[in-house]
Amino acid sequence: MNFAGILARAEAGADLTVPELAVLLAPPDPGSAAALTAAAHRVKTAVCGDYVNLRGLIEFSNFCNRDCFYCGIRKSMPAVRRYRMSADEIVHAATLAGEYGYGSVVLQSGERDDPEFTGFLTGVLRRIAALPYRLGITLSCGEQTLDTYLRWREAGATRYLLRIESSNPALFARIHPANWRWEDRAAALARLREADYQVGTGVMIGLPGQTTADLAADVKFFQRIDADMIGMGPYLPQDDTPLGRQCPDAPGAAAARLELALRMISVTRLLLRDVNIAAATALQAISPADGRERGILAGANVIMPNVGDPAYRRSYQLYNGKPNLDENAAALRAGLLANLAAVGARPRFNAPGDPPHYAARTGKP
Ligand code: SAH
Repeated sequence: MNFAGILARAEAGADLTVPELAVLLAPPDPGSAAALTAAAHRVKTAVCGDYVNLRGLIEFSNFCNRDCFYCGIRKSMPAVRRYRMSADEIVHAATLAGEYGYGSVVLQSGERDDPEFTGFLTGVLRRIAALPYRLGITLSCGEQTLDTYLRWREAGATRYLLRIESSNPALFARIHPANWRWEDRAAALARLREADYQVGTGVMIGLPGQTTADLAADVKFFQRIDADMIGMGPYLPQDDTPLGRQCPDAPGAAAARLELALRMISVTRLLLRDVNIAAATALQAISPADGRERGILAGANVIMPNVGDPAYRRSYQLYNGKPNLDENAAALRAGLLANLAAVGARPRFNAPGDPPHYAARTGKP
C-alpha cells in the first residue's frame, strides 16, 4: 500500500481501513511525515476554522477509587496528598477562565461516585452555569450512572471526556485491575451519549505492548462510537506506579512517543474531520517549548491551559514531568499566547467552541 496514495484519499474524505490507517501512522520518510501533518492541518482549517479553541482546565480533586496501573493519582499511591478544591475555589477558577476569554472550562478529577461527591459537583456546576460568561462546561470525572450523568447535564455540563484508554480489550486488561472491565467503560460512553452530552474519548499512545494496528483500531473506534471530541496523548511512565516500575523508559522513548502522538492527531483529523481534538498537556510534558503547539499544527484545535491554583498542582501528577508546576493562571496564559503566536496559530476568545460534529449529528445549533 502506497503512503502518498492513501494520504490523498484520506484528505479527500475517503473512509480508510485499519491497515490503511496503520500505513499513515508510520510514514516511510520525513517528507511523508510532513505531508501527513500538512494535510491534517488543511482539513482542520477547512472544516473547523483556522483558530484554536481554549478551555480553562480545573483539576478540582485527586481522590480516586480506581487503581489504574499507570496513573500517578491511583488509589494506592500512598505519597499523594489528597485534596478537593472548595466550591468557591472552583467557581473562582472558572471566573478566571471567563475573564481570560477562554470561553469554556474543563472540570477534571479522580473517580468517585458517592452521593457526597456527585451532589457537590451538581452544586458547583449550577454556580458555574450562572456566571455571566456563558462558559461551555466539560466534565472528566470517570464512569458514573446514567442518573448522575443526567443530573450533571441538567446542572449545566454540556461535554464529557471519558477516554477508552485503549480500544483493545486485551491491552486494556493488562493496564487495569481485573475488576475494571473494558465493557463497562464502553457502556459508560453509551450512557453519555444517551444523556445528550457532546461525547469525548481518547487513548494513551505508546503504551507498553501497544502496536500501530492497535492505534489504527483506536481511530476506527472513535469513528464507530461517533465521538464529538478526542483527547489523547502520549503515555508517560510514572515512577511509583506498577506499569512505570515494570517498563521504565529507554532513552529516546519519550521523543518517539511524541512523534507517534502527533501522527495519531493527524490521522484522527483526516478520518473524523469535524470533531474537536485537544492538544493534550502530555505533549507539553515531553516537549515543554512546543509540544502542544505542534499538536495544533498536526490537526488539533483545542488547548486546555490550567486555571487552577498552583498550590494543588503537585498533587495532581498523573505522570512524571508535568509542566508548569508553579506557574499561576496568568503566567500560563501569557506563555501560551506567546507560543501560539510563534507558530502562527490564532486563539479564539469568548466562544464556547462546540465541536461542529455535534451540531451535524443532532441538528442542534
Ligand atoms: N479519572 C478520570 C479522569 C482523570 S485521568 C477518568 O477516569 O476519566 C485523565 C487521563 O489521564 C486518563 O484518562 C489517562 O488517559 C491519562 N493518564 C493517566 N495516567 C497517565 C500516564 N501515566 N501517562 C499519560 N496519560 C495518563
